[in-house]
Amino acid sequence: MTRVGFIGLGNMGGPMCGHLVSAGFSVSAFDLDAGALERLRAAGARAASDVSDCVRGAEVVITMLPAPPQVELVWLGAGGALAAMQPGSLAIDMSTSSTAVGARVVEAALEREIDVLDAPVAGQSIGARAGTLAIYVGGSEEAFARARALFEAMGDPERIFHLGGHGAGYTVKLLLNLLWFIESVAVGEVLSIGVRAGVSLDRLHGALVASPANSVFLERDVRMVLDAGDYDEAFPMRLVTKDLGLAVDLAREVGVPVELSSLVEQIHRRARATYGDDAGEISAVRLYEDLAGVSLRLPPG
Ligand code: NAD
Repeated sequence: MTRVGFIGLGNMGGPMCGHLVSAGFSVSAFDLDAGALERLRAAGARAASDVSDCVRGAEVVITMLPAPPQVELVWLGAGGALAAMQPGSLAIDMSTSSTAVGARVVEAALEREIDVLDAPVAGQSIGARAGTLAIYVGGSEEAFARARALFEAMGDPERIFHLGGHGAGYTVKLLLNLLWFIESVAVGEVLSIGVRAGVSLDRLHGALVASPANSVFLERDVRMVLDAGDYDEAFPMRLVTKDLGLAVDLAREVGVPVELSSLVEQIHRRARATYGDDAGEISAVRLYEDLAGVSLRLPPG
């Protein structure tokens, strides 16, 4: 039975860690938040007292943390995970983080003969709870094969993608989020214009879904707003703007001018400034509703 250390038990990491326990892995868990740690202890994990205690004796260590500063601290900081892990073990960061921090983790890990994967996810907290996440993996074939059973316990086996060497997982995850958040701004704008122009939302939405301009965001994801006024607080704007900043940074690092992405990032920053750090991830649509003076809601049923 593989011994796993799991650090970061929030909206995503909590249920993901729970699935590993249910699948029969021997899991030691840690989070700074005592409530989150207690939930995993109750679910059958061993509650560790700190990062070093969590990873000691583990064959695989997984992190699911908010952003690059926490990822760097937990892996490389004083009392960090790498220093306490055994040679031959495997380090997997599943956070949405940067390739730059990832590269520093890889460098330090290889010195200690620890293998590394970056494996961020998509599918929202609902997918984490259902165990149906998509997982985007960067690192060696060998490490990927080693981690496969763990990934299958947390994600949809059909959507576990090995994308290349170190950093490829982070890159693809940042790009898919960028595209989704570009679409959310575009859909917010288009629906607001249409409703202001006097077309019923119901008919406008139906016609667009049946058109060549359809997207998963338009057909499915924006329905949370249109049906229930739910802007999805499980993924807060502080993390949205973090991801968009990382995507624009990545474009700058590789030398691609991104006028559209930079503008879209700023629109989401405006939504965060308007509705707060904890406002839901679809708050850019709310920004358009407020600017246009419309409420984008479909009739019940
Ligand atoms: P979260 O804020 O709910 O959870 C993060 C957890 O990390 C918290 O419980 C926090 O206490 C813990 N933590 C922070 N610093 C720590 C430290 N030094 N030591 C131990 N624990 C520490 O965030 P989340 O929504 O679970 O997201 C985690 C990652 O997954 C982020 O990178 C996010 O961008 C990404 N993600 C989130 C979603 C979503 O819908 N929420 C979807 C896909 C990807």
